[in-house]
Amino acid sequence: MRSSAEAVIIGGGVQGCSLAYNLAKRGCKNVVLVEQKFLAYGGTGRSGGGVRHQFGTEINCRLAIYNVKCFEYLQDELGYKESIEFEQGGYLWIAYTERQLEQLRKNVKLQNSLGIPSMLLSPTDIKELIPQINLDGIIGGSFCEKDGHINPFHVTLAYAEAAKRLGVEINTYTKVIGIKLKGNTIDGVYTDKGFISTPIVVNCAGPWGKEIAKQIGIEIPLYSERHQILVTEPVERTLRSLILCLDDGSYWKQTPHGNFMLGIGNPNEAKGFNMSSSWQFLEEASRKIVKKMPILSNLRVIRQWAGLYDITPDSQAILGPTKINGFYLNLGWSGHGLQFAPSIGRALSELILGEKPFIDISPFYIERFENGKLIPEPACI
Ligand SMILES: Cc1cc2nc3c(=O)[nH]c(=O)nc-3n(C[C@H](O)[C@H](O)[C@H](O)COP(=O)(O)OP(=O)(O)OC[C@H]3O[C@@H](n4cnc5c(N)ncnc54)[C@H](O)[C@@H]3O)c2cc1C
Repeated sequence: MRSSAEAVIIGGGVQGCSLAYNLAKRGCKNVVLVEQKFLAYGGTGRSGGGVRHQFGTEINCRLAIYNVKCFEYLQDELGYKESIEFEQGGYLWIAYTERQLEQLRKNVKLQNSLGIPSMLLSPTDIKELIPQINLDGIIGGSFCEKDGHINPFHVTLAYAEAAKRLGVEINTYTKVIGIKLKGNTIDGVYTDKGFISTPIVVNCAGPWGKEIAKQIGIEIPLYSERHQILVTEPVERTLRSLILCLDDGSYWKQTPHGNFMLGIGNPNEAKGFNMSSSWQFLEEASRKIVKKMPILSNLRVIRQWAGLYDITPDSQAILGPTKINGFYLNLGWSGHGLQFAPSIGRALSELILGEKPFIDISPFYIERFENGKLIPEPACI
């Protein structure tokens, strides 16, 4: 392991790997990325792989436009030999109450004003789009055909391999155990494999990043919460869109390999680091989603897993500099951070290297919790 670096990135999720690549691409090649387990061990490798334009804040919509454009050519840009499985089959949000529909109307109005081709759908339109769906209780929805999904493992590995080719050192099974300061400035990072001297540390450690920041006196308003997914056996491809229900936070999609992937929110989930799968989730997700999509009833479940959301008070990421010189944050993605790897990897690398970010990410700075300028994202599950 290198003993000194221009920058150290803590965390080998999609955000850490994208940042490493983007820093190296801009000429900052002596970057060391440190991952306590393996790449994509955290939320990244446990995500649903969804990519969408349909957000409810202007900043996220603008970033989403950039993200989706990037995914169209990312595989080529990164010189990745496998497919990142980017596919645009659309995202359908379904409302069951007037309040939910009103929020979708607001979202679509904002999205359309920025050039995003989303639209409102009536129950009849929804049935036409997804003939297999049970319309009980549905009063409308919104749809954007340009939304879709990616394979989280391939995207992360694609960034990591491209970063390595540009000179980044990636150390897996290496844990950051402390940060060394000189006064109010970063001086280096202690890992369980040795010390790395560096003037810049970027905390991309997801839910675990809160404790890392706390060691140097930075309190991050963030908590962790388990979310689970189950996967069925593969069957003939009949569904291209991801469907997301606002009544219970359930969602499902069919992957390019034919497997259905199902998830559902749990309002009673305890905060914490529990990442074990539960039979209660298996039972509840199957029961509720089969009612909404009866054709799923005879499919066998082949596996399930759990991962953590790192949730902030406004369901928005915390990005950028801190009161410690050289210490940056990129965490708190609140369940939608996979798809923001292209835009934030670029913008944060520009900021760190003293360039003007291509899009202003200062609204995401941690200061917003002190000055009360929160940017609540309504389009979250
Ligand atoms: C069930 C589920 C479904 C999701 N679905 C979607 C979706 O459809 N679309 C979407 O965009 N997002 C989705 N997300 C959210 C998305 O997965 C995350 O927001 C995103 O992957 C965060 O990436 P990250 O790199 O910030 O963090 P992580 O992927 O959590 O990476 C953090 C890394 O830091 C490492 N680390 C922690 N502490 C240390 C240490 N001390 N030393 C070294 N390394 C350390 C961890 O091991 C981990 O690998 C989902 C998440 C879950 C759990």
